[in-house]
Amino acid sequence: MNTILSVRHLSKEIKGRSIVKDISFDVLEGEIVGLLGANGAGKTTIMKMIVGLSKISAGDVWIAGNSMKTQFSKALDNLGAVIEAPAFYPYLRGYENLRQYQRLHKNTSKDWLLEVANLVGIDHALKQRVGTYSLGMKQRLGIAQALLKKPKLLVLDEPLNGLDPAGVRETRNYLSKIASELGVSALISSHQLSEIEQMASRVIVIQEGSLMIEQQIGYEAGDGGLQLTLHVND
Ligand code: ATP
Repeated sequence: MNTILSVRHLSKEIKGRSIVKDISFDVLEGEIVGLLGANGAGKTTIMKMIVGLSKISAGDVWIAGNSMKTQFSKALDNLGAVIEAPAFYPYLRGYENLRQYQRLHKNTSKDWLLEVANLVGIDHALKQRVGTYSLGMKQRLGIAQALLKKPKLLVLDEPLNGLDPAGVRETRNYLSKIASELGVSALISSHQLSEIEQMASRVIVIQEGSLMIEQQIGYEAGDGGLQLTLHVND
């Protein structure tokens, strides 16, 4: 399987403090990988470097084979990201917001816009003004927007944060569909394994800026039924 995201020896120093320390991992085609860690572990800083929002202090990131340092535009062409709450035009409807974004990216397929809206579950709300959207609906609109340019990789910072249990379930379902039906790879951060274990095939655990664990997620039948097992990669 093709490697869509390759992170090598990624490091970040801010004001003499080492925030991210020599992190390396891959995300393969169609794979969802969870980036786990407590508050302040360094997840957002790692993601910001991966998507080009923060300067890389050392190491590099390749998206679909393109270096963030030397092939920035080509790397971005293959990337969709929601790192912080994206800004929308509150007086425009959901549909108009997405069309506006499409125009910026010279991609005008209305069919694709509707397919993406349907996939993330905002098709029924496209005629509403975005100012009336709930947090969860804005989150979905942000992910729809990130998908409009048909990226090979989605990078999402805590997309399950602040959602109620039904919202968490629905978000997990459509993110799994995005990976399985569109073949888009995803790196998704979270505080908790329990939030993403059902959709990720692998998790990476960050502690104080270092990669502590990289594990496959699997399920095995045991005495107590189906048990979650973590297989340590060497
Ligand atoms: P959370 O889950 O709370 O968002 P996180 O794992 O995403 O946490 P980061 O936001 O990446 O963690 O922060 C990692 C560490 O780097 C924290 O100690 C934070 O205070 C520090 N940090 C991040 N950005 C800056 C900055 N611009 N200046 C100084 N320190 C920073």
